[in-house]
Amino acid sequence: MSPKPLGPVPPGFQITDGELAIAGHRASELARAGTPLFVYSSAMIEARVAALREALPARVGVHYAIKANPFPPLLRLMAQLCDGLDIASAGELDMALGAGADASAISFAGPGKSDAELEAAIGAGVTINLESAREADRALAIAARLGVPPKLAVRVNPAFDLRGSGMKMGGRASPFGIDEARAADVIRRVAAFGADYRGLHIYAGSQSLDSGAIVAAQAATLALAERLAQESGYPPPAVNLGGGFGIPYFAGDRPVDIAAVGSALGEAMAASPLTAAGTRYHLELGRWLVGEAGVYLTCILDRKESGGETFLVTDGGLHHQLAASGNFGTVVRRNYPVAIATRMDAPPQEVAHIVGCLCTPLDRLAERAPVPRAEIGDLVAVFCAGAYGASASPAGFLGHGPAAEVLV
Ligand SMILES: *Cc1c(COP(=O)(O)O)cnc(C)c1O
Repeated sequence: MSPKPLGPVPPGFQITDGELAIAGHRASELARAGTPLFVYSSAMIEARVAALREALPARVGVHYAIKANPFPPLLRLMAQLCDGLDIASAGELDMALGAGADASAISFAGPGKSDAELEAAIGAGVTINLESAREADRALAIAARLGVPPKLAVRVNPAFDLRGSGMKMGGRASPFGIDEARAADVIRRVAAFGADYRGLHIYAGSQSLDSGAIVAAQAATLALAERLAQESGYPPPAVNLGGGFGIPYFAGDRPVDIAAVGSALGEAMAASPLTAAGTRYHLELGRWLVGEAGVYLTCILDRKESGGETFLVTDGGLHHQLAASGNFGTVVRRNYPVAIATRMDAPPQEVAHIVGCLCTPLDRLAERAPVPRAEIGDLVAVFCAGAYGASASPAGFLGHGPAAEVLV
């Protein structure tokens, strides 16, 4: 069986006595509480936010899109570290408020907001990113009934997209945002009806590792915001420039050059008339802030040979880590960074499939992985598990139940 490369292990972990250590805690020590387990490092997240702030121009805020990981202790940390939280449901609104975020620092995007959700958000005083002209009318009507001026921003479906992004969210017909050509109308309507107009939200895509593409999308976003300010007659108090910074999951992937992105953004902002007019800017990121700071630990329950191939069967699986199995928005299945956490100082000695405990052939954590020889009781670490892991996987599937989570 020829080996298939594993993705790159993110920096920031240690090896202690031959074991993976996360923020000074050895894997076996963490696993004593039971596996499968997601471990998130607060020190790595703090370092990440600090590095981003260092790279970005001072007036660019950093918002956290909580769908990437809403684990309550992690969310409390993000509410403290970031300038705002981005939510996409009433459930996430409760979580954001529960994490101590100020309502004025929360914005609510997402198509298909119900009346109850709009009412909860307007009542709480969070900013609603309007996804359609009809949603604008509904929000205005609900606000009139409540007797409060709603904080409304207009999400624009840009005519460009974020090149090289794993999930395109612009440049085409879309359920997200209001098409460029119709946006000025909605801005005028919202502002004329006495809403507290909060500005523009322009999100061009996700999971891009191409710094040049991110720079180009940010420049195009600023240019679009300028055009809409002119066309509508209302300069945006704030522009949410989107995000879309990816992380390296697969062999050959390279991290985003945030220094290059930050300096290009600084230049584009300096040249923009919006900056002179006092517009504030922010990015909204999920994956890039927390993805590399999480590890999914699972224990080997069985080791078997079949058809000449070796299978390491773990107590985890796609019900917790759907993305690592290749079933969450990927076309070609490639291996995440994976390691035998209890044998970190041994070289690869065999090629094995690392599978989950679910009774479905989809449940593969790694295919043809070059690994040290592992036995029953060894721990497997799946890296890059801090975003779109626990909350983006079908934990109810096959009845094994959810994984534990811990922030260390
Ligand atoms: C999903 C999403 C994000 C976060 O995306 P990441 O890839 O995790 O950074 C931010 N904003 C919007 C509008 C989204 O839909």
